[in-house]
Amino acid sequence: VVELALDMKNLKKLVAAMQKQATVRGPKTDRSGVALADVGANGEMALDYANFQLPLKREFFPQCEVIYGTGPDRNPVAKEPSTEPVIIFGARPCDAQSIDYLDKVMSDERSTDPYYQKRRDAAIIITLACDSPAATCFCTSLGGGPASTVGADVICFNLGTSLIFESVSAKGETFLKKNEKLFRTPTEKEVDTRKKLESDSEKKLSKIPVSGTPDSLKSKNDPAFWEALSETCLSCGACTYLCPTCHCFDFFEENVADGALKVRVHDACMFESFVKEASGHNPRANKRDRMRQRIMHKFSYTHDNFGKIFCVGCGRCIVNCPSTIDIRETVAKVNS
Ligand code: SF4
Ligand code: SF4
Repeated sequence: VVELALDMKNLKKLVAAMQKQATVRGPKTDRSGVALADVGANGEMALDYANFQLPLKREFFPQCEVIYGTGPDRNPVAKEPSTEPVIIFGARPCDAQSIDYLDKVMSDERSTDPYYQKRRDAAIIITLACDSPAATCFCTSLGGGPASTVGADVICFNLGTSLIFESVSAKGETFLKKNEKLFRTPTEKEVDTRKKLESDSEKKLSKIPVSGTPDSLKSKNDPAFWEALSETCLSCGACTYLCPTCHCFDFFEENVADGALKVRVHDACMFESFVKEASGHNPRANKRDRMRQRIMHKFSYTHDNFGKIFCVGCGRCIVNCPSTIDIRETVAKVNS
């Protein structure tokens, strides 16, 4: 592991160096709070936020992307994503963990999603360890933590007047070595402060019992249980769109002036139309069954298929559900 320190006053110099190597995406203030965006030539970034409103998955699996287009000759032309290098700075550790999970879905020995994979291969993820987790964060219940390194290439700790950078992957180590002239060796005090930041943040996080959920779900077959859980759900899909691990998508075709486009868009199992068949039959016509599907997929099916519960405890679905449905309470009810 390469561990280096950077004086805060030199952060813009590091950004300038990174911008010579890649497109730099970082935390920028916007109307949603702080969001990942291209960092401008001035190197300005916001460093005070709990998490982004929108999940990191969108950097690799956009909400809407053209897969194929046709020219005037009507022949299909693949619209390949850019393979230009990208450095993503400031993602939170829970979001990096979600990318580690999505990697398992998007590529295995049978097939690879080339659109996702090309972006993944071109990216370096530098996470920013959490110093002020939100009241709705519960990553430590799911194997994560404010300084978890799963899915990251480099992890960075904000100590106020300086930053500590630690390599996680070989890609991250190469990145730090390439830029090592800008860094210095951390002082003992900085190493202690970095450890304290991690333990203080962990203490702020609520912990809920999750590990037994895959087994508990196997016996939750009473429709009345799911009816009660989904009673106030509006089927709006916010929980799935904003979830960093949800990955269902749909395609549609669109006619344009000089041909047609095939477009991939995120989809949501909480929508009434999600599995509606062309005949009009809908196997999950009521929200009771859709709620069950969402919870089963996250806490049981992915556990069976990938050995992971596909929730990283980011809390986005809690913050953004218009009906104040709290997944921590759902899990508690499943386990009661
Ligand atoms: S289920 Fe909710 S808390 Fe868990 S990862 Fe998805 S949005 Fe975050
Ligand atoms: S955000 Fe809340 S209301 Fe909307 S679909 Fe999810 S659980 Fe239902």
